[in-house]
Amino acid sequence: MIDWLLLWFVAWIVYWSESLWWVGRDTWILVGDRTGALRLQQGPHASPRGGAGLYVAGMTLRPRWRVQLPDSRDGLPSSGAPKATKARLSEVINATGNLRRWSLGLALWIFAGAPLAIFSFGLARTWLGLVISILAWTTAIVIQFASEWRRMYPDAPRAWHGPAATMLLSPFGAINASDRLVRHAFRSFGLVDIIESVAPDAEVIRTSRMLYFSPEASEHTRSAITDMLARRTLGRVLFTPPPRLSPDALSYCPRCQEQLFRVAGECPDCDWVTLVPFDPVQSR
Ligand SMILES: [Zn+2]
Repeated sequence: MIDWLLLWFVAWIVYWSESLWWVGRDTWILVGDRTGALRLQQGPHASPRGGAGLYVAGMTLRPRWRVQLPDSRDGLPSSGAPKATKARLSEVINATGNLRRWSLGLALWIFAGAPLAIFSFGLARTWLGLVISILAWTTAIVIQFASEWRRMYPDAPRAWHGPAATMLLSPFGAINASDRLVRHAFRSFGLVDIIESVAPDAEVIRTSRMLYFSPEASEHTRSAITDMLARRTLGRVLFTPPPRLSPDALSYCPRCQEQLFRVAGECPDCDWVTLVPFDPVQSR
């Protein structure tokens, strides 16, 4: 009884630790599983203020994929090829479709089927069959992973060996196979193009503010964002104040939109971003 519970717990911890990423403050991550359900996250979830830290994926069995986007300070924010970016997103969605179904099957087998078998028949009578079935399933995922990899990265057709070896050594990693497949799929694309092509309006506005008002944003990045917002007919949304949440709110952060009860200073959450006072005409 204790055996299988302990095994289950260890398995869950190993699986969860497989889904942690160490990321920098300026790393953008695209999280999703299909178009229309994509979210952009900047930087780690947990870090000492302003530094690199851990990006924590949600505790879910449903395999999702996450793409590490090009650093906003590297390269061109816009490559001027939104069509190519959209095509790449379709590639990512197609390449991960089957893989995610296989991974979900493996996850259900490891976390539900196997514990049930051990509970019913005992570990001594089931372990060999379980090990063989999990290895066979993992191998099937790795074979599919390799073929999708060669399709997605024709310039690095052998680079699948590393992630494949890791997955064979730890089948929990195979649950996140689609994650491993597409992590760098947008490496040579422009961040602003990606935001324009993949995000719904609300996400475009939120991420544009985060990038535009970052003290490190270059003029090139800022003008790429302004052009992109004009193409999405979102016009001057960057400079529109948020609806006032309280009559006592005196200023807001143009970057994260937090509202504060003081008229000047810097945003407590965004380094070096100066607060903008609310228009006095708007008050009370
Ligand atoms: Zn802020």
